[in-house]
Amino acid sequence: MGKFATGTSARTKTGFTLVEVMIAVLIVAVLASVAVPNYLRYRKATQMNACISNLSNIHIAYEQAKLAGRHPASVEDISGPGKYLSVVPLCPVTGTNTYSLPATDSDNPTCANSTDDYPHRLPENPGRGSAN
Ligand SMILES: [Zn+2]
Repeated sequence: MGKFATGTSARTKTGFTLVEVMIAVLIVAVLASVAVPNYLRYRKATQMNACISNLSNIHIAYEQAKLAGRHPASVEDISGPGKYLSVVPLCPVTGTNTYSLPATDSDNPTCANSTDDYPHRLPENPGRGSAN
């Protein structure tokens, strides 16, 4: 008795070793490599859905303007205080107004930021504008 410490380690330094820190950094890097692409993909999908919602609102406002006998030439003609849309809609991708009104009555409004991977466009409505 007496020569060895009882129940306590002889090692008294506290903190992490280099290997422990490297393992922690490696784990964080692996998690980030999985999370960041998913975050970016969901972010783009969310922006696309918000843009599609804007396109739907633009389309409704455009139809209301036509019912009122007006022929708006641009999104600015139907948006603003006292008009069909209270503010000019902005595409969430660029934060600018990139919308165009339909070219014909059977078309939908479009966004210039639309891509094949993340299309900013309303679904086709087969019942509208068909030549019967
Ligand atoms: Zn858009």
